[in-house]
Amino acid sequence: MATMESLIGLVNRIQRACTVLGDYGGADNNAFSSLWEALPSVAVVGGQSSGKSSVLESIVGRDFLPRGSGIVTRRPLVLQLHQVEGDAQDYAEFLHMPGRKLTDFALVRKEIQDETDRLTGKTKQISPVPIHLSIYSPKVVNLTLVDLPGLTKVAVEGQQESIVQDIENMVRSYIEKPNCIILAISPANQDIATSDAIKIAREVDPSGERTFGVLTKLDLMDKGTNALDVLEGRSYRLQHPWVGIVNRSQADINRNVDMIFSRRKEREYFATSPEYGHLAHKMGSEYLAKLLSQYLESVIRAQIPSIISLINKTIEELEAEMDRIGRPISMDAGAQLYTILDLCRAFERIFKEHLDGGRAGGDRIYNVFDNQLPAALRKLPFDRHLSLQNVKKVVSEADGYQPHLIAPEQGYRRLIEGALSYFRGPAEASVDAVSNHDFILRSSYFKANFTKRIKLGVYDFNELKRFPTLQAELAAATNEALERFREESKKATLRLVDMESSYLTVEFFRKLPQEVERAGNPPNSDVDRYGEGHFRRIGSNVLSYIGMVSDTLRNTIPKAVVYCQVREAKLALLNRFYVQMGKKEVRFLTLFHSRLQ
Ligand code: GDP
Ligand code: MG
Repeated sequence: MATMESLIGLVNRIQRACTVLGDYGGADNNAFSSLWEALPSVAVVGGQSSGKSSVLESIVGRDFLPRGSGIVTRRPLVLQLHQVEGDAQDYAEFLHMPGRKLTDFALVRKEIQDETDRLTGKTKQISPVPIHLSIYSPKVVNLTLVDLPGLTKVAVEGQQESIVQDIENMVRSYIEKPNCIILAISPANQDIATSDAIKIAREVDPSGERTFGVLTKLDLMDKGTNALDVLEGRSYRLQHPWVGIVNRSQADINRNVDMIFSRRKEREYFATSPEYGHLAHKMGSEYLAKLLSQYLESVIRAQIPSIISLINKTIEELEAEMDRIGRPISMDAGAQLYTILDLCRAFERIFKEHLDGGRAGGDRIYNVFDNQLPAALRKLPFDRHLSLQNVKKVVSEADGYQPHLIAPEQGYRRLIEGALSYFRGPAEASVDAVSNHDFILRSSYFKANFTKRIKLGVYDFNELKRFPTLQAELAAATNEALERFREESKKATLRLVDMESSYLTVEFFRKLPQEVERAGNPPNSDVDRYGEGHFRRIGSNVLSYIGMVSDTLRNTIPKAVVYCQVREAKLALLNRFYVQMGKKEVRFLTLFHSRLQ
């Protein structure tokens, strides 16, 4: 148990940080590749009965693996160690028996055997299907250990010929992963040159940076021989130092010698050994665990920069996500209504800012009044309407059977009324033009590509984008309101034109005879009364009257439009909508919140 402790501190600190960021190591945790993935797994490889299961057990610090002579480990065992808080009792759980917490580790061992047999029968066959076992304990770190069947040279009775290759392939599939630490187990009572562990480890990890050479069974060496050449790196050099181990013998296992006792025995062995005494501090299971933890630490340290950048990236992504999702919404009807109204008001506010000139867009409306309307007024075809021919025609028709005596009053009226009707066109056009610019403003909220024309605050736009139903309702309400304002505005401007025809400015006409006299043309001159000059004068009088009206309308049409359209849009764009909203049921409000999936 003490063997894992050195790792606990470091890994715990990092894992605590990761947990805060939502990394629980679960498979469905796709926020970022988990630290659990970044941490290496540890796999034991070696020949059959070389002591793999024994070494693994002593790293974990618990007796739970089936060990013994012959082929004992016949399926890979993927062992996940989970650190739990507090001083809870250790327990184990198999993936194939979810929910069953085993606290008796003798039962765990039995279940490994039984589960192996379930798939392969009580034979000597192997299966690549792994057994998944989790151990939960406050005394372990989150780490994955893999116990593997031993490599063999020949198929024995009851085994298929392919077994040698099958096992090798299975082992390779685990240890070729770059983040797998290889514990290459070789028994000291065999020549290292024949070590299957070293052979396969060298294949997948030629530089030896993730291979740990472990020499077991030092106690079983022939008298007079020792493993110093191997342990001191002279026989086969590895990047990491070789570690000699003395596990429990078969006799110990049979006698149920426990881990604590066997550790003590191992320590004593090295301390008192004449050959290995000088290496005692670098030998044994505990030292191996320490070495492993140091290596894990360096691996983790090396990964810290990438973990940090991963975390930073994740934070950025989460923030972007937050922006997209926006503020949380309560299920409470009142709060929902509040959120909806809040959004609507934000929308109204921005719409207003466009009109007021706080944002781009409102100036287009001024352009209608300043350029479009005056230009349209200038283009009205009054010269055609007041051509000599038409003036003569209209005046004569108005006179009827009795030609006018002093001034053609009726003729004037008809000419003026005819001319005034031309103003209806530009009046209506102004209303529509303003409405079109309103349209651009409102579209820009509902269509993303409109933002190119009028750049909107991303925040406001996004806020609405979250609620497609509300967005559609709001668009409809806005359209409906602006349409209503347009109709009102049209009515008002046309009324201005009609008002001009309903009462002519008397003052203007009072001045007329005097002007004529001043010009030295007596009005009672019969010659002139029906001559061209007379009609030309009538035409020019009407034209100057129309010019006066045109000036008035150029000023009053914008007033009517602003009053009915712009002002209303600013003051009461969504008033009706609010009234409708207030009457809606809770069910409906929830619908408004339905989000874009
Ligand atoms: P595996 O097949 O590689 O998993 O090896 P095991 O851990 O099952 O061990 C095989 C046999 O060798 C068991 O009977 C162990 O008791 C025994 N054994 C393993 N290591 C040692 C050791 O260092 N000394 C002694 N005396 N026996 C060992
Ligand atoms: Mg084994």
